[in-house]
Amino acid sequence: MNQEKLAELTSSFPLLHNLMSLEELVWFNPNATTLEAGLPYVGLDENDVQDASERLKRFAPYLCKAFPELEATRGIIESEVQAIPAMQEYLSNHYGVKISGKMLMKKDSHLPISGSIKARGGIYEVLKHAEELAINAGLLSVEDNYEKLYSDELKSFFSEHSIAVGSTGNLGMSIGIISAKLGFQVSVHMSADARTWKKYKLRSLGVTVVEHEQDYGVAVEKGREDAKDDPKCFFIDDENSRNLFLGYSVAGERLKKQFDDMGIKVDSDNPLFVYLPCGVGGGPGGVAFGLKLAFGDNVRCIFAEPTHSPCMLLGVYTGLHDGISVQELGIDNITAADGLAVGRASGFVGRAMERLLDGFYTITDENMYKHLGELSELEDVQLEPSALSGMVGPVHVSKGKEYQDRMDLTEEKLENATHLVWATGGGMVPAAEMTAYLAKSGR
Ligand SMILES: *Cc1c(COP(=O)(O)O)cnc(C)c1O
Repeated sequence: MNQEKLAELTSSFPLLHNLMSLEELVWFNPNATTLEAGLPYVGLDENDVQDASERLKRFAPYLCKAFPELEATRGIIESEVQAIPAMQEYLSNHYGVKISGKMLMKKDSHLPISGSIKARGGIYEVLKHAEELAINAGLLSVEDNYEKLYSDELKSFFSEHSIAVGSTGNLGMSIGIISAKLGFQVSVHMSADARTWKKYKLRSLGVTVVEHEQDYGVAVEKGREDAKDDPKCFFIDDENSRNLFLGYSVAGERLKKQFDDMGIKVDSDNPLFVYLPCGVGGGPGGVAFGLKLAFGDNVRCIFAEPTHSPCMLLGVYTGLHDGISVQELGIDNITAADGLAVGRASGFVGRAMERLLDGFYTITDENMYKHLGELSELEDVQLEPSALSGMVGPVHVSKGKEYQDRMDLTEEKLENATHLVWATGGGMVPAAEMTAYLAKSGR
């Protein structure tokens, strides 16, 4: 971007100065509105989420058979909710602000199969594709017991088809593991920041891992090119896919059921705040969409990004969405939060969801590491750095007086609030790697 254009942009959007100086920034969205007013812009509705949910139920017998770790949940991939009172107290003291209500954590970090939030969207999209192929070939019908997909016949059928994806690591893990299990040929294009152990793990499963020197955007582009001339190759488009988004969205109804079972009330006097780490946007966007459908206006979603990769904040704040990258502002997109190292936001998530999101903030790598260490020490839960970005969300809401007033979040309501930190990854990090993370945390 030339100097003149940049000056124009920063004068219209003064917070860009803060973004460019890489300081931590909180922006509560002045355009946040009701579900009723915001929903028409999403282009998807509860029927689409229901369809995804039904599909995952059809696949449950297959998943149960293919991944014995899913026997306990009969083939449903879901994570636990855990209270983190010691972390809540620590954050209160550390940041000098009272965090009213109760802090919980959603442990997508420990989702079966691939140990991150990508076990929702990534696996769902591959299953949907496999179902379509098998049905079109006359090898499957929706009335069948999908256990039959776990057979040499179907594996051999899928082996004539291939799947390609670009990723910073975790999406590649999910897509690679499920695709290889079904029998597909699969190539994962990894960006420079992807961790070595993730590549190693995938190669051990027979996945073709292509390493790139550049960042996420380039890895996705290479995956797209790979698939372009091959009609039997299906490209999973993390930057634009509605199917990924819908796979994530099923989390909403699942969480509602979990909260019902736990006796956690969410209504206009008992607000729910959810803090979601954001990379390209599909994961947090899809989850937020599902949450809005499940809890209506009583859930308030806030996205967290690294100070070096604030692509969604940039896109929504300026209204330019995928028309601008952080690099154009001189921000380097280099962060230890590999799952969030994305310089340009999704082409559809910001536009679809911007009216249904209450806020956005950024956090430094240093603070992610610090909270990684604190969480391990105080709650004995180990996460990867990306997953800690949501942890300070309750601090920002508790300090955000203007936001609280605008949303009529009285002291009384805040006393009854639930703060849910979406922990998005870390369950499969090897011990040696985790030791290195903890060493960086200063713990
Ligand atoms: C991918 C990822 C996210 C964010 O999901 P996007 O769809 O990229 O926005 C958050 N945390 C972790 C650990 C991830 O791997």
